[in-house]
Amino acid sequence: MRLVSIAVPVPFLDLLTYSVPGHLELPSIGARVRVRVGSRTVTGCVVEQGTPEHGIAEARAELKDVVEIVDREPFLPEPIVELCRWVADYYVSGIGDAIAVAMPPGARARASSFRTRRVATLTAHGLTAVGSDPSHSHHRGQTPVMTPLNPSDSVVPTHNPNIELSLDVPGSDPKHVRHRGLTPKQGDALLALAAASAGLPLSELRDRGVTADVLARLAARGLVAIRDEAHDRDPFENAAMRDVIPDAARRLTAEQTAAFEELAALADAGEFRVALLHGVTGSGKTEIYLRLAARVCRSGRQVLLMVPEIALTPSVAAQFRGAFGARVAIQHSALSDGERHDQWQRIRRGDVDLVIGTRSAVFAPLPRLGLVIVDEEHDSSYKQEEAPRYHGRDVAIVRASRERALVVLGSATPSMESYQHAVSGKYARIVLERRVLDRPLAAVRIVNMREEYAVEGPDVVISRDLAASVEDRLARREQVLVLLNRRGYATAVFCRQCGDTFECPNCSISLTVHTARQGWRARCHYCNYSMMVPKACRKCAAPYLEQSGFGTEKVEQHLRERFPDARIGRVDRDSVRRKGALASLLSRFADGELDVLVGTQMIAKGHDFPRVTLVGVISADVGLGLADFRAAERTFQLLTQVAGRAGRGDRVGEAIIQTLYPEHYSVQLACRQDYPGFFEREVNYRRGMRYPPFVALVNAVVRGRSFDEAMQTAVDIVSGLGPATAAGGFAILGPAPAPLARLRGEHRVQFFLKGARRVDMRKALKTVLAGMPQIRRRVTVDVDPLSVM
Ligand code: ADP
Ligand code: ZN
Repeated sequence: MRLVSIAVPVPFLDLLTYSVPGHLELPSIGARVRVRVGSRTVTGCVVEQGTPEHGIAEARAELKDVVEIVDREPFLPEPIVELCRWVADYYVSGIGDAIAVAMPPGARARASSFRTRRVATLTAHGLTAVGSDPSHSHHRGQTPVMTPLNPSDSVVPTHNPNIELSLDVPGSDPKHVRHRGLTPKQGDALLALAAASAGLPLSELRDRGVTADVLARLAARGLVAIRDEAHDRDPFENAAMRDVIPDAARRLTAEQTAAFEELAALADAGEFRVALLHGVTGSGKTEIYLRLAARVCRSGRQVLLMVPEIALTPSVAAQFRGAFGARVAIQHSALSDGERHDQWQRIRRGDVDLVIGTRSAVFAPLPRLGLVIVDEEHDSSYKQEEAPRYHGRDVAIVRASRERALVVLGSATPSMESYQHAVSGKYARIVLERRVLDRPLAAVRIVNMREEYAVEGPDVVISRDLAASVEDRLARREQVLVLLNRRGYATAVFCRQCGDTFECPNCSISLTVHTARQGWRARCHYCNYSMMVPKACRKCAAPYLEQSGFGTEKVEQHLRERFPDARIGRVDRDSVRRKGALASLLSRFADGELDVLVGTQMIAKGHDFPRVTLVGVISADVGLGLADFRAAERTFQLLTQVAGRAGRGDRVGEAIIQTLYPEHYSVQLACRQDYPGFFEREVNYRRGMRYPPFVALVNAVVRGRSFDEAMQTAVDIVSGLGPATAAGGFAILGPAPAPLARLRGEHRVQFFLKGARRVDMRKALKTVLAGMPQIRRRVTVDVDPLSVM
């Protein structure tokens, strides 16, 4: 009997075993197959194949047959399937969830419609209609010149139903053909198509105002043919990325050269190794990545460049695109499904040397991986906050170890985990201590907001020092970044008479007030519930509603009032909802069309805006109040990174940090941009309190319709775990209500496992959960959690 184990797209499910009926070939590992799960037929992926002796679970009489084999060749390469198995195991997720992140979009649809697009071309009949010579081919951009037969006619007469079109094709005899009954729109369409010998995609024609309806009518008259055409969509085609001409002549600084040579030697060795490239902001890490990538490509191996969010730093992608041209593929979630699918296929076909992508690009089907660069390795967006809850950097390291590749982790503010490994010698440590061209780091000042409130009153948003500095930069035509890591206008609404506050009805969190065209709107940042803010209190009807706390929208408003002539933009999740809005804001700022950019942490990431000479931080303490052992690390990283955006060009930069806790070590050390000092301090705390990187944590959140239900389930799981703690050497903390005790209408209780060996904690948890299948869906397991809300 021939059997296969299949990963199916059903959450939490383990591998399912099917038999392969005699008339089907045995499918390869990584091939897609259609199988029945319950009453549905789904597309799964072969993870194991063979006979029962080959280690697949015992054949049972009721085993179902594979319905259909989709791929003759493996769709996912076997090493990627194996990587997904590791992810499912390590992060305690279903194998189907893990396989799903490695699949391109649409891979599970019955028939993939992604690879084609509809294209319209002129027929021979249509070509004569516009007077173009069919043998004459044109390139796009060579606009045909239209010569009206009657000089008094406008180019495309709008009221004449009998249009005469005539096309003067450069280099050929103008022909004049009379066509009766064409509408101006149809005439436009014919002309556009006459200029494109290969035809034009319908999408592009639509952008030029030619609707599908117009084309259908032309097709009905036999003037235009419409066909489906295989097509790779190029995400760079429309992206607002400026062309970067790689500066081959640029000389690396002495420090860059030393770092590059060390890394090149590691790459040349062709062995697995992790190197931490710890370079201060503006030390020129990108330049090193570029040269290292080129070297690895030349040696015949491939490169994966991981970035936190491509949309936030289009220039890194553009620089690689400039240097590697068409041999680059890009993978990230802001692409359309079709684009992602096409890019994935290019990688799979071997058409690329280099893949740039966000965390899921770690599963890119590159067969000869030689180098993985994880830029801004400390960034929390590498962690996926839904199943499978994997960390892109950590999966990259596992992948590289299996494929004997070099991993370069780059950051000015490495994570505690990575730096600890560098200190202990597990990772190679390569340091860039200075900015390129001896540019100084920004000078950072702290403004104590307690003193500011004492003088200026409690409503101050922008301190006197910061305001004066902004004014100064505006006068000098330099640019300013203003950071507040909290979006919205106000963070709470309450009644001054009865004290009632506006909480989300579904979540235990107060609603955030946003400015809206129709007035004030209060919105939950977790479940998106929203309501208009009424004029009077809902409880006591008193008209004394007050707002407190503030976010980016209020900062923007204060800046506009204070500097009416300044051109101000805002970047946060609310302002960049529309597709392309973020790219447009960032490129307007880069082009000098904006003077000030206000925003959340989105403005702190990796940007290289040479004209920014001032960075203001409105509240450095936003993250410090959280009951999270990583709060200080996050604050230090954010402040150091945002200060690092200043003074990257020819002019010196300055940063001003407003805070209520000027003495806090994360603020103080960020102010001095003293990473080693911060690490020293923080690592002692982590060691003393037994937190990562000295122990591993596993977080489990149990959801229930009531608090009691959630708590009871959590207690059951924890007591099931009890016997394993001694042998596994781990402790259980909790259960206790989660910091967000209610979310989307559900109650939440959490507990932690804390110990040295993840494998023991995982095994114990899996065993207990496997014995309670009816509650599995209500338990979220997070191994190496980054955020515990
Ligand atoms: P990082 O990523 O380390 O913060 P970048 O790679 O963005 O720094 O480099 C900072 C700036 O310095 C960029 O504008 C880059 O073009 C420039 N740069 C990098 N290396 C050199 C060099 N050797 N000579 C001159 N300019 C450089
Ligand atoms: Zn809510």
